[in-house]
Amino acid sequence: MKSDGVKRMLIENPIVSNARLEKLNAVVKKDMSAVGNYILVDFNQVNNLLQSAKCQYCKKQTLKLDLLATLGFSDHLRLLCSNCDETKTIVNTSLKSGATSHDVNFTVTQACSHIGKGYSAIEKFCMVMNIDPFSSTTYGKYARRLYNAYTLASENIFVEIY
Ligand SMILES: [Zn+2]
Repeated sequence: MKSDGVKRMLIENPIVSNARLEKLNAVVKKDMSAVGNYILVDFNQVNNLLQSAKCQYCKKQTLKLDLLATLGFSDHLRLLCSNCDETKTIVNTSLKSGATSHDVNFTVTQACSHIGKGYSAIEKFCMVMNIDPFSSTTYGKYARRLYNAYTLASENIFVEIY
């Protein structure tokens, strides 16, 4: 929905060239399918939303979201009914790309790389947003994966050129 707003704004702005708009649209479409559909949410707002939902077992509006663990931008959540204690749905807010690798943290590392920033930028962003950042070791792991992917991609391009 947010990306539609950006696209609409760009379409209405004649200063933006068509080539740049086409490139942006291609990136947005790719991000929606390959990377994930991330949104920033306030945890308290989600809990407020759940207060209007009914428990599937006791049919009372007593659902509550518990934050079990967090690893950077990925959270381990449990949906619990405080009335019957029967409803226990546990979910990660991000897909895992390995035992301890969370897709959202890799994507954040990639985003910072694209804007020319490193781990300290992630720390500052997390500080303002009241999020515990993932460790610098984890950042290093994701940065190496990115470096390997970029190296492989550039080698493939050079093979096609020569
Ligand atoms: Zn219940």
